[in-house]
Amino acid sequence: MIIAIDGPAASGKSTVARAVATRLGFAYLDTGAMYRAVAAEALQLGMATDDRPALTKLAKELPLAFEHEGGSALPTRVLAGGRDVTTEIRTPAVDAAVSPVSSIPGVREAMVRVQRDLAAVGDCVVEGRDIGTVVFPHAELKVYLSASPGERARRRTADMERAGHDVSAEAVLRRLERRDTADSTREASPLAVAHDAVEIDTTGLSVEQVVECIAQLARARR
Ligand code: C5P
Repeated sequence: MIIAIDGPAASGKSTVARAVATRLGFAYLDTGAMYRAVAAEALQLGMATDDRPALTKLAKELPLAFEHEGGSALPTRVLAGGRDVTTEIRTPAVDAAVSPVSSIPGVREAMVRVQRDLAAVGDCVVEGRDIGTVVFPHAELKVYLSASPGERARRRTADMERAGHDVSAEAVLRRLERRDTADSTREASPLAVAHDAVEIDTTGLSVEQVVECIAQLARARR
């Protein structure tokens, strides 16, 4: 069974998707981490984020892997070309580079191919922007998570502060809005609500409430 979880930046996707996978004993695939890994590697190599041929080639050739240290059920490390990029992919520089990189059709084709292979393990929770619309249009359960802009900015600011970055909430909100506009208006697989997705506004809901709701929907569809 595939559970597709899509939604804008900082809508609670990762926290919820990981908890749902743990609750149901499913594998978990973070497709945003894959686009971030390509963007991080491009920055490391000094590539321009609008160099379509070079970025397409990079996405096709860069081996990406998720490691599960100590037998952890959830992945703990992201590797790009064997390099540990787990921390690097969450920096403001990668935040800014990832939308232009992920808007390139050749980059998306390469990532979607790998995503379909990685999720072919059986039961998997897959989170991203185009999982229910493009990557797994026949997913048994599709969820679209949203939250108010203020709530999303608050969550992302707290994440960044925990990671040791000094950021202002207004700057975080501006960056989130810029990324959401880019992700929703691009030509290739824009962020959109699949016609058969269940929409959940997570503003004011606890993680536990959202996880319980998705777990119940999943049980009903098995
Ligand atoms: O989910 P996360 O915020 O880590 O995703 C980072 C970026 O990767 C998004 O802003 C979007 O540009 C891109 N992305 C995408 N398609 C996906 C997942 C992420 O274009 N399925």
